[in-house]
Amino acid sequence: AGAAPSSTGTDRRDSLAHNYHPLPVTIATGEGAWVTDVAGRRYLDLLAGYSALNFGHRHPGLVAAAAEQLGRVTLTSRAFDHDLLHPFADRLTRLIGPLVQGADPGTPAGRAGKAGAPGDSGSAVMVPMNTGAEAVETAIKIARKWGYEVKGVPAGQASIVVGHGNFHGRTTTIVSFSDDPDARDGYDPFTPGFRLVPYGDARAVADAIDETTVAVLMEPIQGESGVVVPPDDYWPALRRVCDERDVLLIADEIQSGLGRTGTTLACELWDVRPDLVTLGKALGGGVVPVSAVVGRHEILDVLTPGTHGSTFGGNPLACAVGLAVVGLLETGELQSRTRDLGGHLHARLGSLVDEGLLTGVRGVGLWAGIDLDPARGTGRDLCEALLARGVLAKDTHGSTIRLAPPLVIERPDLDLGMAALRDALTQL
Ligand code: PLP
Repeated sequence: AGAAPSSTGTDRRDSLAHNYHPLPVTIATGEGAWVTDVAGRRYLDLLAGYSALNFGHRHPGLVAAAAEQLGRVTLTSRAFDHDLLHPFADRLTRLIGPLVQGADPGTPAGRAGKAGAPGDSGSAVMVPMNTGAEAVETAIKIARKWGYEVKGVPAGQASIVVGHGNFHGRTTTIVSFSDDPDARDGYDPFTPGFRLVPYGDARAVADAIDETTVAVLMEPIQGESGVVVPPDDYWPALRRVCDERDVLLIADEIQSGLGRTGTTLACELWDVRPDLVTLGKALGGGVVPVSAVVGRHEILDVLTPGTHGSTFGGNPLACAVGLAVVGLLETGELQSRTRDLGGHLHARLGSLVDEGLLTGVRGVGLWAGIDLDPARGTGRDLCEALLARGVLAKDTHGSTIRLAPPLVIERPDLDLGMAALRDALTQL
């Protein structure tokens, strides 16, 4: 208490747990793709809150929606309805529904032909939560309950297939199926019921499925692992195997979704419609935590009053911002702009590989994992060199850093960031 603000961030505040190792910068304000630190220095933000800030810092439309709602009502709890809850659910499912299997009349009925009323193609529904981890937990609970009540899996035996290198959040159950020792060690005993298979290998998923399997849960592109893009035939093969074996395909789109890849969902890149989609991060526009699970009603109908919930899930402030976020994605303009700018970003990064300054680049849209030769430095070294040049980025593991600028970034600013990256790489 009483400590002067520091622009270096290196002073240890012992009242704060040390579960993060932030770069030495103390941010005071933000606007669009830029932030300013307490000393007045400006930085280009190429992390964008791990993709929670897809629309930039303090997007005027999102701030206005939040401010307006602050003047009305902020929390009712789900004990009572409020006037934005159903509008948010309607608009979100109108955006995402056509992208999940069997949930809109215009798409293949999928499993909807087997369950639900005759002729009912199954409409999409959503369940609102707050954080990404809560959405993933919710999807796991729905899949297990669906497994017991609909698929007929014997009690207590539901299994879910997950990928090596996954990151789905930090709860005890979710770290139970992480293979990252940092995320996992010391937090046992773990939740059983998960099978880890190599990411990107559809055969391994098929082999791991048996009569107890209720779901395959994967990130369309692995974010925390370093923006790992699977082979093009991976998601179509997962869709096929899940259909054949009566298993739910769950796409965790918390980091990949809502425009990041130049499409509303990353799964669209392969024209695949999952059964359940988890959304978070950008759904709250970097203003409030908002997450959701979206799927067709006969799956989410396993949730009945009292069986799942959240005090803050679907609160009026979250719905006001979430509605404005959906509004920003409805026209498709941001997605198409992201495709164009993403092509430019990847061309620039590709030339850094050609020059021998990077050993690898992966990604799609405004999302990239870049690898540095470990002999030249760690990802952290590169991020510190970028920081000194007025650019914020974050290492993932070892010598890999992730670039995920706000989707609203201007092209000259992106070029500025790329010039700083080139300069930092040549001086490492
Ligand atoms: N799922 C994915 C794919 C993520 O990238 C993340 C966060 O990085 C989460 C889930 C967890 O989200 P939260 O930190 O909001 O709990």
